[in-house]
Amino acid sequence: MKIIFYDTKKYDKESFDKAILEFPEITVDYCEADLSVTTAALSQGYDAVCAFVSSDISAPVADKLAEYGIKLVLMRCAGFNNVDLEATGKHGITVLRVPGYSPEAVAEHAMMLALAVNRHVHKSYIKVRENNFSLLGLTGINFSGKTAGIVGTGKIGAAMCRICHGFGMKVIAYDMYPNKSLEFVEYTDLETLLGCSDLISLHCPLTKDTYHMISEYTIGKMKDNVILVNTSRGALINTEDLIAGIRARKFFGVGLDVYEEETNNVFENREEDFMETSITSRLLSFPNVIVTSHQGFLTEEALLAISQTTLQNAMDYMSGTINEANLVK
Ligand code: NAD
Repeated sequence: MKIIFYDTKKYDKESFDKAILEFPEITVDYCEADLSVTTAALSQGYDAVCAFVSSDISAPVADKLAEYGIKLVLMRCAGFNNVDLEATGKHGITVLRVPGYSPEAVAEHAMMLALAVNRHVHKSYIKVRENNFSLLGLTGINFSGKTAGIVGTGKIGAAMCRICHGFGMKVIAYDMYPNKSLEFVEYTDLETLLGCSDLISLHCPLTKDTYHMISEYTIGKMKDNVILVNTSRGALINTEDLIAGIRARKFFGVGLDVYEEETNNVFENREEDFMETSITSRLLSFPNVIVTSHQGFLTEEALLAISQTTLQNAMDYMSGTINEANLVK
């Protein structure tokens, strides 16, 4: 099987080059460009495309891929909100993903964001480098004894529950399908969770139902001085409403690994660019907001697991033994 690999970064190539040694039947060609209507043409002559979180797999792209005979899209990530499944389905294109490569990688990043905004690490790092050893403005809160509200307790949410529990927090959660293995977690409805939590961390997928689940209305239901963390998908939060809430001093801190408008930024060095739109700049202007660029997944363990599962997905497709858990329907 010949795979064209879109949106390649150095660390992708390193981990896939290592993992592919176990898969002699597969060859991979790496391409820096991401998948789009224009770059879909590069898939000509390949059996499968390998895509990532910012790849465009909308209907026009699926049409092009089908034109070039692509029958398999290998998502090297868990989320698939960027795939038009109706369009891929229409063309008989199978979409496989990597649902749980390292839940701890993302959950640990979520807790890092929560701790960093709480203890103002982004501020103190800069201050100390400038010989400013004053502690003014750096006061945080103890997490121990506080309440963590986890929205979505699948693989990553469950790992976040365990981390918060380890910090001595009371852990409450909202999910339509409670995770029975989390015996220390108290499940509740979303509104109660919002009203009771000192730390809210989002871990549900982006769907029609979860789009803008954090809005002016739901922010209004939160406790004052709450810490909000999103490592899931940007559009879970209505950013304009979030910015209004930040300006109204609702939040103690906000940690975002994902945000609306991230697509042009993610994984790119834009040091020389003038930002044409303002969401990113406005978010970055607040002293109590930390933004990272979709790096929750970026650990050595996660990268290796992603490459192994992606290549195994390709092998399974070839042998007609698809792992149903990895099939995107
Ligand atoms: P998962 O499928 O294991 O769990 C998702 C959970 O959300 C499920 O338990 C589901 O029942 C629940 N859910 C669905 N709709 C909900 C709703 N309306 N309200 C509350 N809960 C709801 O997924 P996962 O592996 O834990 O990943 C979660 C998300 O994290 C992914 O969808 C992806 O968007 C994101 N993610 C981000 C990164 C990163 O680098 N920042 C990496 C991997 C995944």
